[in-house]
Amino acid sequence: MSEPGPARPGSGWPGDPATPDTPVAHDAAGVRALAAGAGTLAELVARQSVCRACPRLVEWREQVAQVKRRAHLTEPYWGRPVPGWGDDHARIAIVGLAPAAHGGNRTGRIFTGDRSGDVLFASLHRCGLAAQPDSVRADDGQRLLHTRMVAAVRCAPPVNKPTVTERDTCAPWLTAEIGQLTADLRVIVGLGGFAWQALWPVLADSGYEVPRPRPRFGHGVEAALGSLVLIGCYHPSQQNTFTGRVTPGMLDSVFQRARQMAGLGEPSGVEAPGYAP
Ligand code: SF4
Repeated sequence: MSEPGPARPGSGWPGDPATPDTPVAHDAAGVRALAAGAGTLAELVARQSVCRACPRLVEWREQVAQVKRRAHLTEPYWGRPVPGWGDDHARIAIVGLAPAAHGGNRTGRIFTGDRSGDVLFASLHRCGLAAQPDSVRADDGQRLLHTRMVAAVRCAPPVNKPTVTERDTCAPWLTAEIGQLTADLRVIVGLGGFAWQALWPVLADSGYEVPRPRPRFGHGVEAALGSLVLIGCYHPSQQNTFTGRVTPGMLDSVFQRARQMAGLGEPSGVEAPGYAP
């Protein structure tokens, strides 16, 4: 039986970017200062992963990691903010809402270990943007290709609903991450309406030309922001996939379009589906 509760920084969790010395943000001002002051992407994600700025979310994520779900009682839970993950020189960024309580909050990697991720990673693999068709644990060998995944809010919220204050408190982490990626980044895929809305102020703060009026969220909707294109994509939630609101083909069309807009062309070599690292 594993220890209940959140993983301690530097205690050996696969891919843990933090150490016991990583500085911790305790409020919104701390997030702004530590996000702006992180000199590298590695330092930025380390700081994200130990953040404690939102009391409600800190309590919830750690409580979930303590109590766990019956199906995962013998597993360790991450129980910390889920940092950005993927290619440090990504041309495509996928921005979601927030980690799932027993998905990313358990595995420590966004969309890893939850049903939405099953659908998402299968599509990314078909489109040559993920090395494997699924993602179940932080040490499963999965790799994102040309792509990075981030959550607009990095801690699992109760009933998947962060507050506006929590969204705004977390925004500087996203602004700083986009800033670190700007040289290579060409496309952002906004997964779901919440991520779409959360992105506008972040993109404005990042120096992109934000269109006015802002385009309404929709599947396949595109907004040009100078060198960057924002593409809307319905969230592959269980509700959306069960009802057919979003299908594997619809996801594939968005990610193929993202490849095209990012100048990646057709998948080849290690990007081709079926490749096993
Ligand atoms: S949601 Fe963001 S700002 Fe709030 S505690 Fe988590 S990482 Fe920090």
